Amino acid sequence: MKGVLVILDGIGDLPCKQLNGKTPLEDADMPNLDFLAARGKLGYMHSVKPGFVPESDEALVSIFGNDLISSTRGQLEARGTDLKMTRGDLALRVNFATIDSLEKGSIIDRRAGRTLTTEEAESLADTINLKINLPCKFVFQPSVQHRAVLVFRGGFSDDILGNDVTYMQGKSQDITKIRACKPTDDDENSQYTANIVNEFLEKAHEILNNHPINKERKKRGLLPANFLLVRGAGIEPPKLKQYRKWASISYMPLEIGFSKISGMKVFSFDYPRLNKLDSYENLYEGLKKACNFSVKTLKDIYKKFDYAYIHIKETDIPGHDNKPVEKKLMLEQIDKTLFDFLRSFAPPNKIKVIVTADHSTPCNLKNHSADPVPILLYDDSILKEKKFSEREAAKGILGRMNGNELLEKTGFDK
Ligand code: ZN
Ligand code: ZN
Repeated sequence: MKGVLVILDGIGDLPCKQLNGKTPLEDADMPNLDFLAARGKLGYMHSVKPGFVPESDEALVSIFGNDLISSTRGQLEARGTDLKMTRGDLALRVNFATIDSLEKGSIIDRRAGRTLTTEEAESLADTINLKINLPCKFVFQPSVQHRAVLVFRGGFSDDILGNDVTYMQGKSQDITKIRACKPTDDDENSQYTANIVNEFLEKAHEILNNHPINKERKKRGLLPANFLLVRGAGIEPPKLKQYRKWASISYMPLEIGFSKISGMKVFSFDYPRLNKLDSYENLYEGLKKACNFSVKTLKDIYKKFDYAYIHIKETDIPGHDNKPVEKKLMLEQIDKTLFDFLRSFAPPNKIKVIVTADHSTPCNLKNHSADPVPILLYDDSILKEKKFSEREAAKGILGRMNGNELLEKTGFDK
């Protein structure tokens, strides 16, 4: 193995009041990452381009050297599940969400309070799959926590805009109000496709709103998962650069799907089910599993692959929830496990390590931002004390780059 690329989702941040003006990276105690940073180079990157607020899929596509392609998300996520896909099938990424009512039309929570258990999501999905009749076949499949994938079978158009506009560039839309899916061109099939999706969404709302699980949730003071938000419509997998000498250690549908379509061999595990109400307990459990699994897999495969891409997802979530302390604690947990291992594994095996993020998710903003992310390239070069943080990376000798330059500039090839 020549190199390991570690993407820590959404770790870029801004100074946080709760951390006395430090960012989670600056405040976290990470001796093992410091060890790698001291023997490497720092820099920073706009994962797509300056001024652009990336979704995870857009960032990944760019970081792996592709031109930015929009609307890949549904296809990537569908291919990260075990759903069989045929050309023309329309795939969408879905959130279980909470609205007040169709008449008032306000979105109360994009993720149903993050308290939807895996079992509840599965039951709700079962009812939807059983009860909704459409002129075409469809599959609605929940994945991790509030996330799900929706696939309509047939020859559809992907020139439609979903009803979830949270991540749209420009933000001219009111993201607190529900809206219908719309065609984005005059094509008859696009109108037909938007109509089918809207029909599905209306029927799904009707079922979800009256579902015993949601009635029970309301009684317990929890937000009902009574609405579906869809985005990232796609009818065929994007054509991506191929990374045949790479192994991907990933576990969320998006990253698994992206890795598969990019020609990598995927090593994965089943995410722990969310059984109780505390979604952070579930995240820490998932993070622990992810780090241990990464270490074990690296040991198993380092002689068989030139490169490994490890994607750690949990670190993005506290940014969305404005929980800087949780973000810092997650970073420290990763340091104690994954970086502790890499610190002793990389030098004797002459393995380079890149540590970076797909985008910033500043706690203050509770969303992704256009702020650049720090890059660390450990290559056993310069021995000088430095810390992997936004501020130090901004002064690093790697300088600034766009995402699609990262692998080339650091000497990681396909
Ligand atoms: Zn992300
Ligand atoms: Zn995010």
